[in-house]
Amino acid sequence: MKICPIQKSSGILILVFLSFNLISQIQAQGKTIPDSKLNLNEQKKDNPMKRTDSDWKRILSPEEYRILRDKGTERAFTGKYDGHFEEGTYKCAGCGNKIFDSESKYRSGCGWPAFSDALPESVAETKDNTMGMARVEITCSKCESHLGHVFNDGPNPTGLRYCINSVSMDFNQEEKK
Ligand SMILES: [Zn+2]
Repeated sequence: MKICPIQKSSGILILVFLSFNLISQIQAQGKTIPDSKLNLNEQKKDNPMKRTDSDWKRILSPEEYRILRDKGTERAFTGKYDGHFEEGTYKCAGCGNKIFDSESKYRSGCGWPAFSDALPESVAETKDNTMGMARVEITCSKCESHLGHVFNDGPNPTGLRYCINSVSMDFNQEEKK
């Protein structure tokens, strides 16, 4: 097939144009790298679970570590929030995730802080068959720290009793929603 000179030169121009475009795209990609690094940092910030076991040992006191990371239980009637009825928000002692509102706290008499409800999506439930009992363990949905257990002998309307270690929580009066 015979190509006339005008067509040939416009073909070369298109090629030059395309290569220039390609080089610009590669350069643009190079410029976006710092942004993707920022995204990575944000993901880390939202994921305190990335902490290693030695991180937790450094951050937490031995008693906090025993309960939050080793699924221990504080002695009944000894916790600082058992008889605590101020208005505010209870947060996970491991990561600061808001887990309970004081409105749901009630006197259960069981020896540990009790709540009839948790804040939406703040906790996770897992079947726990240790200690010869069929219980449901409650952990923080953000950092997976052990908080306590939930039982179905609570007050209406939920009928639930979240039985939580004081050590697993930090109370914040200002954070009242
Ligand atoms: Zn947490």
